[in-house]
Amino acid sequence: SLKITDDCINCDVCEPECPNAAISQGEEIYVIDPNLCTECVGHYDEPQCQQVCPVDCIPLDEAHVESKDELMQKYLALTGKK
Ligand code: SF4
Ligand code: SF4
Repeated sequence: SLKITDDCINCDVCEPECPNAAISQGEEIYVIDPNLCTECVGHYDEPQCQQVCPVDCIPLDEAHVESKDELMQKYLALTGKK
């Protein structure tokens, strides 16, 4: 999963770009649900939120490091393909 840091300026650009609806407005900044974020595996070659964020505040979440295989399994589970 990726995560959003407190550099977030609440611009709302990333939220509609997420193919997994993993991004939502939190109490102070936007947040990513690690159970829903596949790092865009299954949908796109690059994390879409990272591509559009104007302040580059969406790094890898070290608390939720996953392999490409694990991310693909999550994608398949979320989309009902497995
Ligand atoms: Fe959504 Fe992809 Fe960003 Fe994860 S990396 S929050 S799936 S847009
Ligand atoms: Fe925050 Fe970046 Fe998303 Fe804008 S695009 S809401 S700055 S994380």
